[in-house]
Amino acid sequence: MNIFKRFLKNVQKALAGEKYKVKIKEISYITHDVINIVTEKPENFKFNPGQATNIAINKNSWKNKERPFTFTSLPDDEYLEFVIKTYPSHKGVTNELLKVQKGDELILRDVYGTISYKGEGIFIAGGAGITPFISILRNLKLKNKIEGNKLIFANKTKKDIILKQEFKNLLGDNFINILSDEQTDEHYYGFITEDFIKEHYDNSEKYFYLCGPPPMIDAVEKQLKNLNVEKKFIVKEKFQ
Ligand SMILES: Cc1cc2nc3c(=O)[nH]c(=O)nc-3n(C[C@H](O)[C@H](O)[C@H](O)COP(=O)(O)OP(=O)(O)OC[C@H]3O[C@@H](n4cnc5c(N)ncnc54)[C@H](O)[C@@H]3O)c2cc1C
Repeated sequence: MNIFKRFLKNVQKALAGEKYKVKIKEISYITHDVINIVTEKPENFKFNPGQATNIAINKNSWKNKERPFTFTSLPDDEYLEFVIKTYPSHKGVTNELLKVQKGDELILRDVYGTISYKGEGIFIAGGAGITPFISILRNLKLKNKIEGNKLIFANKTKKDIILKQEFKNLLGDNFINILSDEQTDEHYYGFITEDFIKEHYDNSEKYFYLCGPPPMIDAVEKQLKNLNVEKKFIVKEKFQ
């Protein structure tokens, strides 16, 4: 390729905001509607646990359809991993991800995200809102700093709980599940309420980390306010 063509290609790349193309190494279901995708990791690629990137599928009409997804691997892993809840009815990117195969490419953009670990606390996740906490909690375990943290995980039913066994292993009794649509002997039932938080909050946990659908985050934030938790101790991200 001559210099001019290479220059033109780089300009086109920059205009398209294209950052990294990575090949899919593995793809598998981890719940009935959640997939796990492992990809190559570009050289010198950096992110912090809790951060996300915009992803597009490198296929004709999908190249410009980006959606945000969170890294669930650790910064030093030699691969990237994503845990993705799929919505076939939206006919969007997550539905299309159900059709990709090993060897297909994804396009990753900039790394961003508001959630990062600041200190011991209670992680409260709704559904796919668990993803920033996967990398954070795995990283804390690796660094022997997971003690003193709790995870409250809200889902509709038992079959929706992502990585249940792994969280049990990481957190033991500090892994608390609440289901809104299924009564079981094993888990709490209903929605997260002020009383529910109070029951699991012994004032030693300084931070609250929230991630999930906007109505859930808004409701939990109000409850925390009523429990006199200062705004500066609430770290949150809303997943649309
Ligand atoms: C910072 C951040 C990080 C995130 N990380 C993750 C992650 O790691 N894992 C994860 O699973 N999710 C994550 N999410 C959420 C994820 O980005 C969305 O679930 C994803 O964008 C959905 O994409 P989609 O194209 O399949 O559907 P959408 O973009 O939601 O929808 C595509 C189209 O379908 C239509 N549509 C919308 N809602 C409905 C509906 N209810 N019924 C029918 N049609 C509808 C609309 O026309 C829409 O344009 C994250 C979100 C944010 C903000």
